[in-house]
Amino acid sequence: MKDKGMSEEEPLEPPSTRPLLGAVFSEAVPHIGKGVYRKRKTLTVIPFKNNSILPKFRCSQNTLSFRKRFYPDLATTAWNDWRWQLQNRIQDEETLRRLLVLSEDELMALSDPEGRFPVAITPYYASLLSSEDPSQPIRRAVVPVIAERVLSVGEAADPLCEEHDSPVTGLVHRYPDRVLFLVSDYCATYCRYCTRSRMVGQGFGKRPKWRQWENAIAYIAGTPSVRDVLLSGGDPLTLSDENLEWLISRLRGIRHVELIRIGTKAPVVLPQRVTPALVRMLKKYHPLWMSIHFTHPDELTPETNQACERLANGGIPLGSQTVLLAGINDTVETIRRLVHGLIKIRVKPYYLYQCDPIKGSAHVRTSVDKGLEIIEGLRGHTTGYAVPTYVIDAPGGGGKIPLLPDYIKGREGDDLLLRNYLGHIHRYPDPNGRSGDRPWVH
Ligand code: SF4
Repeated sequence: MKDKGMSEEEPLEPPSTRPLLGAVFSEAVPHIGKGVYRKRKTLTVIPFKNNSILPKFRCSQNTLSFRKRFYPDLATTAWNDWRWQLQNRIQDEETLRRLLVLSEDELMALSDPEGRFPVAITPYYASLLSSEDPSQPIRRAVVPVIAERVLSVGEAADPLCEEHDSPVTGLVHRYPDRVLFLVSDYCATYCRYCTRSRMVGQGFGKRPKWRQWENAIAYIAGTPSVRDVLLSGGDPLTLSDENLEWLISRLRGIRHVELIRIGTKAPVVLPQRVTPALVRMLKKYHPLWMSIHFTHPDELTPETNQACERLANGGIPLGSQTVLLAGINDTVETIRRLVHGLIKIRVKPYYLYQCDPIKGSAHVRTSVDKGLEIIEGLRGHTTGYAVPTYVIDAPGGGGKIPLLPDYIKGREGDDLLLRNYLGHIHRYPDPNGRSGDRPWVH
């Protein structure tokens, strides 16, 4: 039966564990308002108290120059503190205008009062954006354009019908043995093609949803078939260590939950979040895996490298998830550079997703042929570990469907005819098989 949601206010504290209580989200991350700069080309920052001692975090030359230019008075310790990065997210046209030369298209989208989906970019990720070129791939991934307002055939707010498979609020139970636990609707940086744009950044996620979390945990505890829990959102790593541990420790306490996974983009847009303290906490709850959302090789910076190194050294297996996007990463060369870079930082390229038909996504969606062409350009041409699985998450809630180029070319007698990565045909003796028969022969 579906939980229709909570009518009462969520409590401010976790229901049963005061000792684990961390800073509630609304205190930790107040929203910045408009007019946050005081003089041209430097941005005023929200006063930030950092009482904790953070270990050193290496910064790239590019990021250092950006900081010197736009935040000249800011201490390195503040820049390298993930809470400062969240407090100072860039969320409005005026602030973005200070950092980038905005195109007409971007300006129209940013000033649109009916803008469909909020804008937020961490100062760190902003440092990677081209100030002059609106067609730069990672800029296109986070700065809105007016095409987002165009609704095309087949698009929907919830194309995967996640709400339909939600037995309690914030939990999607589609496959029998695993659940998707949407623990937050808040992200450090909002991607313009987000599958959950119907809910993320909509302002409900400023603090933990204790009651909702308790209901979801109770459902998992009462459903012995669930052996795998994927924490996602929004981004679970925007929660405090204490609140995240509250969640993970309870899931780990459920006997039939074998695997806990976290889906996050934090190592890419907020690498400072991966502190030694976070890794120390996470490694108490193994087996714990992490899927990291990468879009483009420009995201493979020294900072992201460092975040992934800390996670990998903590024994957390890392996989990447990448959405195939027109004009952003839809060439063999771009994806090859990305997967080669990922392997070097110990992240296994896991999924390449066909972009979901969310509302206003036609301008970033590619043909399926393009995805097959990319897989064809990788398989056999590079290390097998570097080749992700290309999938379509079937609209209507059909789940992930893998797609492969057609390597079976037919059958001659008892021989199966196979095409290799160079296009050569090879035979395999397969006397009892039917593969390669024309479908209408079956
Ligand atoms: S990080 Fe994930 S959940 Fe957040 S906006 Fe991007 S795609 Fe959506």
